[in-house]
Amino acid sequence: MTDQTYWNPVLETLPQETIRQLQLKKFKKIIKWTYERSKFHREIYDAAGVRPEDIRSFEDVHQVPCIEKSMMRDIQRKDPFPYGDALCVPLEDVAVFRQTSGTTGQPVYQPDTWQDWEWWAECWSYILWAQGYRPKDRVFIPFGYNIFVAFWAGHYAAEKIGCEVIPGGVLDTKARILKIQELQATAMMGTPTYILGMAETAKMKMEIDPSQLSIDKITCAGECGASIPSTKRRLENAWGAKVYDHAGATEIGAWSFECQAQPGGLHVNDALFLVEIADVETGEIIDEPGRQGKMIITALDRQAQPCVRFDSKDVIEWAAEPCPCGRTSRLIKGGVVGRADDITKVKGVLLAPSAIEEVVRGVDGLGDEYEVIVDRVGHTDQITLKVEVLPEAQDQCQLVESELADQLRLKTNLRYDIEICGCETLPRYEVKAKRFKDLRNKPEKD
Ligand SMILES: [Zn+2]
Repeated sequence: MTDQTYWNPVLETLPQETIRQLQLKKFKKIIKWTYERSKFHREIYDAAGVRPEDIRSFEDVHQVPCIEKSMMRDIQRKDPFPYGDALCVPLEDVAVFRQTSGTTGQPVYQPDTWQDWEWWAECWSYILWAQGYRPKDRVFIPFGYNIFVAFWAGHYAAEKIGCEVIPGGVLDTKARILKIQELQATAMMGTPTYILGMAETAKMKMEIDPSQLSIDKITCAGECGASIPSTKRRLENAWGAKVYDHAGATEIGAWSFECQAQPGGLHVNDALFLVEIADVETGEIIDEPGRQGKMIITALDRQAQPCVRFDSKDVIEWAAEPCPCGRTSRLIKGGVVGRADDITKVKGVLLAPSAIEEVVRGVDGLGDEYEVIVDRVGHTDQITLKVEVLPEAQDQCQLVESELADQLRLKTNLRYDIEICGCETLPRYEVKAKRFKDLRNKPEKD
């Protein structure tokens, strides 16, 4: 089995028409499941005049109302406590509690049955296998195992595949690096921010060159960094390893992955998930490559609290070409570009925070951390970008700064006030970073 290319050789190579038929069949089943078992879903569909038995085509699917994150927040802490009536199984069938990270507001609780939990591990097995994880690997997971789902399912999937798994739990960053060194771990998982931070700690504080350690592949998730070319390059150079992206979410599941071919995008695991892309303004479904929209996603096999047409607000676009790895699933180009909420107009120009990351991480001499603050002075938008210059580039500060300004103007069409900060003075993050601050709508001071 270890020389097999695909985790699931049947589902990963089905012709697209067959996958579409399978998706439609599963969609009918999951909407019937939610309609019959949950008052929350039934009320939404009744109000829209949608009956599960009326779903016959993808045209019908597109008419099914979307579930918004705010709707999930509103039902929390109601009966059956604490999940509310979106729950589709008896409370005693819930085996696992997790919650969302709360990056965009109050966290949402996520119940799963044991079968759901096995499904999570199965979804992650596709990811890890596609990224070259095999039973001979020793996988280190530098993550603070807690209520946020993060790398929990990645842990179980690595075990399921047959890897040896080292839970890096409450160890601090230095202790984690020493453990990787001591046990000669070959793979690890983390947010791009934290994986870069680990490399910095190893180099600056421990005199260890992370590229000389035994890690040869890293799975990144939680932020889009590993799909941003300049960030991926920094990660790969720092660790001397292949770095792969994965996008998933607590409410949805582990729906996408980059494969070893590194095609500049993510495979959608479309035997298990239905991904639709909708125009942000009009809601029109986009099927052709090259047009960005927000992702509407359905987890087709989840039981306890399935998401049916969940409006994820993740901005993505279809890639034009299939992946050379031979998987027939659809690819999204460049990973998740950002969130519809984060892509904002500054001085009338659309700005995606990931575009700034691409520039900062592409300039030699700059540290990995940065911070963006958008504010309004009088009637004018102003963007401040704080960066750190590496110790070895301190004598070329002005050159680095002018290179940064040029690249920013070229790539984002905007002017920035650049602030050079002292080394290691900007905040460091262990999970998801908060580097983009938009202060324009803050309440007026007296
Ligand atoms: Zn591929």
